[in-house]
Amino acid sequence: MLGRQELSRYTRIEFLTESPLPFMHALYFSPMLLGLCLLVAVAIAASALWRMSRPYAGPGFWMAGSWSLIGGILLFIGFMATGSPTLNVLGNAGQLAGEALFLLGIFRFMGKPLPWWTVPVSVGLMVSFNIHYWLFAGNSDFLMGVYSTIAGLLPVQAIWLLLREKADSATRPARLLVGVSLLIYSVVTLLRGALGYLNWWQDQPYVSPHESFSYLLPYNFAIPALVMGFVGVTLMTMQRILANSQQHAEQARLSSLRFERLLGASSSGVALLQNNRIQDVNQRMEYLSGLPRRQLIGQPVGVLFVDPAQQQLETYLSTGTAGQCDIDALHADGSSYPAEISLSPLTGEKQDMILELRDVSHRKTLEHQLQLLATQDSLTGALNRRAFNEQAETEIQRTARHQNPLCLAVLDLDHFKRINDAFGHLCGDESLLQFSTLCRRQIRRHDLFARFGGEEFTLLLPETTAEAARLLLERIRQELDSLPMQHEQGRFNMTVSAGIATWQPGDTLETLFRRADQALYRAKSDGRNRVQLWSATMEDSQA
Ligand code: GH3
Ligand code: MG
Ligand code: MG
Repeated sequence: MLGRQELSRYTRIEFLTESPLPFMHALYFSPMLLGLCLLVAVAIAASALWRMSRPYAGPGFWMAGSWSLIGGILLFIGFMATGSPTLNVLGNAGQLAGEALFLLGIFRFMGKPLPWWTVPVSVGLMVSFNIHYWLFAGNSDFLMGVYSTIAGLLPVQAIWLLLREKADSATRPARLLVGVSLLIYSVVTLLRGALGYLNWWQDQPYVSPHESFSYLLPYNFAIPALVMGFVGVTLMTMQRILANSQQHAEQARLSSLRFERLLGASSSGVALLQNNRIQDVNQRMEYLSGLPRRQLIGQPVGVLFVDPAQQQLETYLSTGTAGQCDIDALHADGSSYPAEISLSPLTGEKQDMILELRDVSHRKTLEHQLQLLATQDSLTGALNRRAFNEQAETEIQRTARHQNPLCLAVLDLDHFKRINDAFGHLCGDESLLQFSTLCRRQIRRHDLFARFGGEEFTLLLPETTAEAARLLLERIRQELDSLPMQHEQGRFNMTVSAGIATWQPGDTLETLFRRADQALYRAKSDGRNRVQLWSATMEDSQA
């Protein structure tokens, strides 16, 4: 085993070439190896930080900087083992480039413009001095002074930024840690540089790195300060991620609150669906379905409808497309009501949909009333002329197609004017209603009964022979004849006359009407209160 004095006699180049043993001995307590291992740990951690914190800006530079620093140190160790000037130049350049890159990461993290120039300027200066040293056999202490001056001055900008920045208060504690760590690194490195210049000035003899005080400083103090700086940048990143996620969580909470309020304020029932199952509902949906929210959640959406297999609903749900349709909705008490639903995708995913349900019974009632107003006579409830004409045309076409029998009857109340005159218009109206009710009770569902105006009514009887029509009209006539009309001024009877025409090939509604009117005319002229079938003789007599 060689002693310390003997070790110090070896020059760098003699280290490995003359005896491998002292080199091993030197490594046992080598701060350089320890520093290298610390930096490898930092580089691995920086790589993990970069991977995990993406897309946060900064860690990529710290990772690149740490690996470059390690590369530089490895080259430098290679130089110490071999004495190769190239490895010396590259080692120093790699270390300075690494440091400069690491510092650029701080600017990137803080969202400041990057001082890219620091990389080529620091590396360029060092390389120039280094080459000069090898070409002109310069002084190694002076060279070390130059290296340390550059390395010590590099972090000044970043330290200034870290300690001065007021914005981004969330990362301030970690920023101070990084700033102070870099400051220690900077001071120690500059001190080391000053020692180098002093040794050069005093022309001190060369001392092996393992014996040199100026090598003690970087490996024992500067590298730990750099490690502390790295811990600081990691904390800085964590603080930013934490602050951002807290901010996002708060935004998400507010957004869901707004969403809930919005749904609550909606006059429609709203359900959020996933895979056609109810995920959530608003209050209105609870009211419309008659089920509490907790019971609705998890149920298939079909529970809301009378017919869950309705074609349109199924199509929208299976394809995840937006659409609207009318459907009968179901209430928990078993009743149903007409509803209008609209379905739309919620997130762009096919299985996530939002369902809106509106009770449209009020609208349907109005529509029904409008429909009645458009087709019915308001006093008697019989069809009006327009609706009758429309439906009668269809019946006549069907009759023509199938050659079925069909009859058209025209009914006219007898001497109705007298009733009005004797008992008043209101009583007349009441009588019209009673007559209409009587007729509608006698006819079949597919017969058409209309009030054509005044006290004139029409009956279209599909699939009815002349004889059957005559019997029906006769029944009506007799029933009316025997129906006593009550009025405060006394009782009276009302009679009706009717003319019937049977469909003949080539007939139109108009020709049928004309013949029925001729028959009615005959019934009136023959003394009223009678039913008259049309016959060809009537045509002749009219003509
Ligand atoms: P005829 O036996 O010849 O049919 O005699 P009529 O009096 O029934 O016939 P006319 O055509 O002379 O009179 C019809 C009357 O029906 C005239 C009108 O006062 C009455 N009238 C028409 N529309 C209404 C109505 O909506 N309400 C009431 N109360 N009367 C009506
Ligand atoms: Mg009349
Ligand atoms: Mg009349």
